[in-house]
Amino acid sequence: MSDRVDGRLVEISGSLVRAATLVPCALGEVVRVGEERLLAEAIGLEEGFVVAQVYEETAGLRPGEPFHATGCPLSVELGPGLLGGVFDGIQRPLEALAETDGDFLGRGRTAPALARERLWDFSPCVAEGDRLRGGAVLGTVTESPSITHRVLVPPGMEGRVVEIAAAGPRRVADVAARLSTAGGKEAALTLFHAWPVRRPRPFARRIALADPMITGQRVLDTFFPLLRGAAAGMPGGFGTGKTVMQHQLCKWAAADVIVFVGCGERGNEMTRMLRELPLLNDPRSGRALAERTVMVANTSNMPVSAREASIYTGVSIAEYYRDMGLHVALLADSTSRWAEALREISGRLEEMPAEEGYPPYLSSRLAAYYERAGAVETLGGSLGSVTLISAISPPGGDLTEPVTRHTQRFARTFWSLDKERAEARVFPAVSVRASYSDVPPALVAWWAEAAAADWGELRQRALALLEEAERLEGTARLIGTESLPERQRFVLRLGTLFEEGFLRQSAYDPRDASCSPARQARLLRVLLRFHDRGLAAVGRGVAAAALAGLPVVAALERAKAALGEDELGRFDELEAQVDRECFSLEPAAA
Ligand code: ADP
Ligand code: MG
Repeated sequence: MSDRVDGRLVEISGSLVRAATLVPCALGEVVRVGEERLLAEAIGLEEGFVVAQVYEETAGLRPGEPFHATGCPLSVELGPGLLGGVFDGIQRPLEALAETDGDFLGRGRTAPALARERLWDFSPCVAEGDRLRGGAVLGTVTESPSITHRVLVPPGMEGRVVEIAAAGPRRVADVAARLSTAGGKEAALTLFHAWPVRRPRPFARRIALADPMITGQRVLDTFFPLLRGAAAGMPGGFGTGKTVMQHQLCKWAAADVIVFVGCGERGNEMTRMLRELPLLNDPRSGRALAERTVMVANTSNMPVSAREASIYTGVSIAEYYRDMGLHVALLADSTSRWAEALREISGRLEEMPAEEGYPPYLSSRLAAYYERAGAVETLGGSLGSVTLISAISPPGGDLTEPVTRHTQRFARTFWSLDKERAEARVFPAVSVRASYSDVPPALVAWWAEAAAADWGELRQRALALLEEAERLEGTARLIGTESLPERQRFVLRLGTLFEEGFLRQSAYDPRDASCSPARQARLLRVLLRFHDRGLAAVGRGVAAAALAGLPVVAALERAKAALGEDELGRFDELEAQVDRECFSLEPAAA
């Protein structure tokens, strides 16, 4: 950056500043403000003035201090070293800075996101003379034992290889290849490249979503499945289990890479999470979860502008790993806090507010964000995906508020967490009534292949049963269970059995924290078998109470935690027990 002063600050309002300047500035351009050269982004242009949002604490900044343009948009560094990293909303490494600055990030600091000294074992996979385009793989490094990082030609670049680095240790800023590009120019490609966060990374084409992003959470996978490359919204009031669910997804979701964006939640909660999560074992590989996780954290005490930027930083990183042909899940906790940052900035810009004080462009910003989800054929020709999962914290649990409502328009999967269930300590508190998801035929086919040929039917029958049980519960509350016919009493009891034996799933039970598709299907099938055999018994005149008292009922409630992944054969025994006990019952004496 040059020492030339491009303007002077004239006004400071919270995280926004106004500078008088004569140099042309672009919207989205990074600018530096004040003697300390605080990092900021131009978000408003007027004749002779620039309005910028500052990504750092502005206390002490005064009119008259200098303003510098940079000519570059807000960008992230993409290359080896992201995995296991913890960054703030504008990708400054939190740990590296914390070593020198204590808990606070020094103002005006520009620590590079990717460590410059670290060595990576580079293996080239192109040769001199090869013609390459954006997205092509120059070579690989083993970024972590679980992820082979492909060093990519940046999108938009094209040329012939005139030099390629030999196999061996390289730093991120070392030249990996030189390309001769159009017009006889030469481009030096390093192991990383910069990317403007607000611009979606390009791909060859979108692919229809068909495969699930298995989460190991029964109520999600079986009833409200998430497609790989889709977007999901998860609204829930305080204490309904959003954060625990996000942690469960970090651990169990079938993604190659997880990007976690902690967005505006309380500092202490986030610090704990940042310390603990990377240390957790990846249940699938038995290694540290950090080896496939990138964390972006902006706590509620950090500047709102950095929080606003954090989801773009996160999604750019997610797209980058997608472009290597990987399946990435981005978990954001929570987009409500992101929207509040947007509202605060808009308020300071004195823009005309729309609903509930949010700016009128809230909806288009959310749409643009969710548009970055998808399953794609990458520029390099491989398949990759970005799945976006956003917790939403609607004030007072009101699902008609703008952030929830707009998210519903763009997310095909909606997991609504219910306050009453959470208060009754029924977790996960996903409401079967208020949640929904897109279940295309291709997904039904996937399950038929992977878990159970009749999965689609099992699922429909279970949903219908839960719906009927819930309706009957309302009736029973009005007229009393005793007034219900035996069949309905039995269905009511089945509802509670499904609740306990299937929907409820403790994040803390070592055996049940995650449930494979095959085990989910087996549980569903044995429960529905009890439904069928039980109804037949009721038809023969057996009392609902007699069925409810069978020993097999307790076994069905316990099966989720008692029969592990390696004991699926024991579900056959349980099914036989269901048959035996139901057939043994005698009709009640008239
Ligand atoms: P939120 O983020 O929505 O405010 P949390 O995720 O912090 O809520 O959850 C609040 C509490 O609920 C947790 O501390 C935990 O005791 C309980 N809880 C939530 N989800 C589960 C779960 N799947 N299994 C067991 N307990 C849970
Ligand atoms: Mg939370």
